[in-house]
Amino acid sequence: MNSDCIFCKIVNKEVFAAVLFEDDDIMAFMDIKPINEGHSLVITKKHAVLVDELEEELYLKLFPIGRKIANKIKEVFPETKGIMYFIADGEHAGQEVPHVHLHIIPRKPNDGFDFTFDPAYYDRLLTEEERTKVKDKLIPI
Ligand code: 5GP
Ligand code: ZN
Repeated sequence: MNSDCIFCKIVNKEVFAAVLFEDDDIMAFMDIKPINEGHSLVITKKHAVLVDELEEELYLKLFPIGRKIANKIKEVFPETKGIMYFIADGEHAGQEVPHVHLHIIPRKPNDGFDFTFDPAYYDRLLTEEERTKVKDKLIPI
């Protein structure tokens, strides 16, 4: 528990959230500023800023709940044509709330939400050699 953390306050019921699911480890609730209807957040009750701070077992519990919610969203909001499972892990990855959360973002055609890239990005495919060089830096994982 981090007393400055808005998601810890939600876990502690000090701040309202429309809670979809809760067990001993996990909580899921509706995002306050949804990208589309049904946008939900799945969090660990334990406070951790980054994924790597969580035990593997706990981290993996986010996804089955996320998938259940995604399936329900698709059933209830048929305009949903895809789901974005998204974790911003760190401030420079776009994380605004420093408590691990998995976004379940329903997507529909032309919903106006997207990642933006520098125009040069679109022209550039790595060669086999370039990809191998990067891979060699990363292995063994
Ligand atoms: P991030 O940018 O950290 O990946 O996403 C944080 C998300 O938390 C945003 O989608 C934002 O709308 C949501 N959020 C921020 N504060 C609150 C809050 O007090 N209650 C709820 N339900 N969602 C929040
Ligand atoms: Zn927290």
